[in-house]
Order: sequence, then structure tokens, then C-alpha cells
Amino acid sequence: MNVAENLSVGVKPSIPVALSKSRLVILGAGESGVGAALLAKQKGYDVFVSDGGAIKENFKAELMQHNISFEEGIHTEATILNANEVMKSPGIPEKNEMVKKIRAKGIPVISEIEFAYRYKCNSKIIAITGTNGKTTTTALTYHICKHGGADCAMVGNIGYSFARQVALEPKALYVVEVSSFQLDDIDTFRPDVAILTNITEDHLDRYEYAMINYINSKFSIVRNQQPGDVFIYCLDDEITNRHLKNYSIKSTLYPITMSKELPEGAYISNSMLHLKWKGEEVEMNIKDFALKGKHNQYNGMAAGAASVAVDIKKEHVREALQTFQSLDHRMEQVVNIRGVEFINDSKATNVNSTWFALESMEKPTILIMGGVDKGNDYSIMYELVKEKVKAIVCLGTDNRKIHEAFGNMVPLMVNTATAAEAVQAAFHFASKGDVVLLSPACASFDLFKNYEDRGNQFKQAVKDL
Ligand code: ADP
Repeated sequence: MNVAENLSVGVKPSIPVALSKSRLVILGAGESGVGAALLAKQKGYDVFVSDGGAIKENFKAELMQHNISFEEGIHTEATILNANEVMKSPGIPEKNEMVKKIRAKGIPVISEIEFAYRYKCNSKIIAITGTNGKTTTTALTYHICKHGGADCAMVGNIGYSFARQVALEPKALYVVEVSSFQLDDIDTFRPDVAILTNITEDHLDRYEYAMINYINSKFSIVRNQQPGDVFIYCLDDEITNRHLKNYSIKSTLYPITMSKELPEGAYISNSMLHLKWKGEEVEMNIKDFALKGKHNQYNGMAAGAASVAVDIKKEHVREALQTFQSLDHRMEQVVNIRGVEFINDSKATNVNSTWFALESMEKPTILIMGGVDKGNDYSIMYELVKEKVKAIVCLGTDNRKIHEAFGNMVPLMVNTATAAEAVQAAFHFASKGDVVLLSPACASFDLFKNYEDRGNQFKQAVKDL
């Protein structure tokens, strides 16, 4: 693929328009639903948006402004089941009653990325999926491509939905964060470059508690790829590797690893990153990475590999990896109070992310964890907890599993029920030279609105000390 020369020019694509007034019903009026509604209206669809809950005021105003009809607090069968096609927002599960009726009637269901893909014209896509590291890798890839002069946008979790971006401000290159829920309902979606960061257990409630369903979902990112497209995946990820051969992947494989040197691909060896692609090589000392921690070395490798695959220049890749600013709630350095460092990793909502957070700790750690456990197996954390954690502050309504898992190995454990209590307890346990790490390994819904709320309350409590 040679896209470099196209990427730096702003595109004004000739946009295909839906031929007849096809009826598109959109279930869910969040950012992806409303983004898709705007795009659909622009393309001449007969659009109807239906949300079973309340729609946020700003989204409602937008729908009204564009004369898009909608309903909230209800799904009306008569106005939904007459659709030619349904776009289902990622948050709505298959077990939703209306979704079941739509399926039973045989109405095609697509996701928002599938819909946006239809109208992206000849622009390129780098799509990023995986259990952990999606947002960081997406933001990093965007930062490198932007620094390299590409006319690009970052869409998905941060910023606009893909559909909104295509509707309002088309770009030559889209860096798209893609969840498994978005991938479940693709049909033709074909990224030029796909990244699969890793696969560990998560969201199994949405996959009939069968890991293979979740794995299939993640691998569907390569389903429509063709020779000439690129698939970046982690050789060190056990599940990815075990299953790779089960999918007939047509694209060029671009492995990343820390465990061996590769003739082609990306690897880290003796603290040096090597990106080897089409006979060229980018080298860089990982000590110069702006983001710290082993997980971010993987994210940096993947983002660097994707950027090289769309022909971003070597020096731009190197510079951008050095200048990237870390994202909120992901190993975010908050402040240092009397020699105690505070880190906000509220986004760590599963055991694997907390493992990586602990792995990167170089000082004795007071770990604040807990919340809604999604079936966690804490045993993978045992070694790191024994080695690095001097106290655990539980922050959740039900902390029994955490006590059962770590009660024998950590001398100090305490239950708390607010961010302020947790921070005060952690600070009480900490001595000069320690670090207080909020990395909960659990979802936040028992005590907080979401992980951002948890992280913000944590930061506020730290500032109040
Ligand atoms: P996602 O968007 O997939 O949820 P984020 O980039 O937001 O991923 O990071 C979520 C959490 O996972 C962070 O708290 C971070 O510590 C951890 N994490 C980030 N990258 C990785 C990775 N490559 N492998 C494992 N954990 C990671």
C-alpha cells in the first residue's frame, strides 16, 4: 500500500447518496447513534432514532435541528419493524427484546462503523481493536500520523464517532478505535491496517459466556481484509497466537513482539525498538518513549508499526513517540505529596490491565482496587502483588473476592466506600518513596457513574489531602 502522498491532502470526496428513500432505524441515541443519524440524513435516508432510555439534551437538540425524528423511553414496534435496515448502537445487547424481534423479522442489522464505512470513499482506515490498550494505541497512532503530516482524524471512543466524522469533516485517513460490539455487526468493513492489541477475557456476558465467541468477534477485524492490507498483532499474546491459524487471513501479517528478533515486523530487544517494514527500519531507544510501562511499549510498537505501514516517515514516528502526552485515567500521574506519588489508572477495569499497571511499578505500592467484578480470576496478579504491594485499599460495595484472593499475602487491607476514604486510607499507609495506585481491576458502577467519574473523584480527593 502506498498511501503517503494521498494522506497529506485534504479530501473532498464525491459522496454517494442513498438511491431511494431507504428506511434506516437507529437503536440508541448516544454518540454513535446520533453520528449515524446525521450521516444517514445527509445521504437521503428516511431516518428514525429510537432510544429505550432518556436521550441526552445535547443529542436531542441536534436531532431536532436536523429534522430527524426520534423517540425516547420506548421502542415502538410499528415504527421500528418497518425498517429496511437497523443500525444498532454498541451498548445494546442481543438479548434486548426489540433486537430479538428485529432479528426474528430478518431485518439486516449493522453497526455504526459499518454504516460509516459505506461513505468513507477512498479514504484509508487504521482500525484498532483488542481487550486492552485500544484507546491508548488509537491516540498514539493518531498522534504519530498527525505529526507525520497526514490529513487524519481519530474516531470511536475519543472525539467523534466514525459516522459523525465522515458526515461533518471527511479526512484522508481515519484512525478508528473499534470495540468487539462494533465488530459484531459488520458486513463489508475493511480496514487498510488492522491492529489487534491482545485478547483476554472480558465482556463475556455479551458473548453467551463463551470465550470463542469473543475471540471470533475480535478477529472479525480481518475478515474483509485483502492482500495488500496489513494486520498487526502481538506474537506474545497467547490467545491471539493460538487462534490466528483458524481464520483465513489474506492481509500481510505484521507481528510485534518482545520475545525475539524478527526479519520483518516490530520487536523490542535490548531496550531498542525496531520497526522493520518493506526493507526499511526505524530504530529507537524505548527509554525515549513518552509513555511508561511495558503495556505502553506494546502500544507504542503497534502504533509505530501502523504508522510505518501507511508510510509515515521514520523521524516523525520517532519524534511522535517521544512527545505523546498520556491520556486521562490511564496511568495518569496526578501529583506527588510529601514524597508519595499518586497515579490514576481508573480505566483499568479488568485484571489484565491492573497486572500491567503493577508490572510497571518501581516503588512499594499501595493499591486501590475493587468495584464490580466481571468474573475476575485474581491469580495472575499473585506474584506481582507479593513482590510490590504493601497494602490494598478496597473500593467497592462487595470486597469479599479481593480479601479471599489477597488476604494471605498482603499485611494491610481495608474496605472503603468513597474515593475520599480510599485516598485517605492509602495516604495513611504510605511512606515517603511509595506510590498510591488506583488501578481497580473492576468496573465502577457500584459506587460511581463510570470510570471517568471514579478517576475524577480520586484526583479531587488527592488534591483535598
Ligand atoms: P481500552 O481502550 O482497550 O480499554 P486503554 O488504552 O483505555 O484501553 O487502557 C485501559 C487500561 O488498560 C489502562 O488502565 C492501562 O493501564 C491498561 N492497558 C493499556 N494498554 C494495555 C496493553 N497493551 N495491555 C494490557 N493492558 C493495557
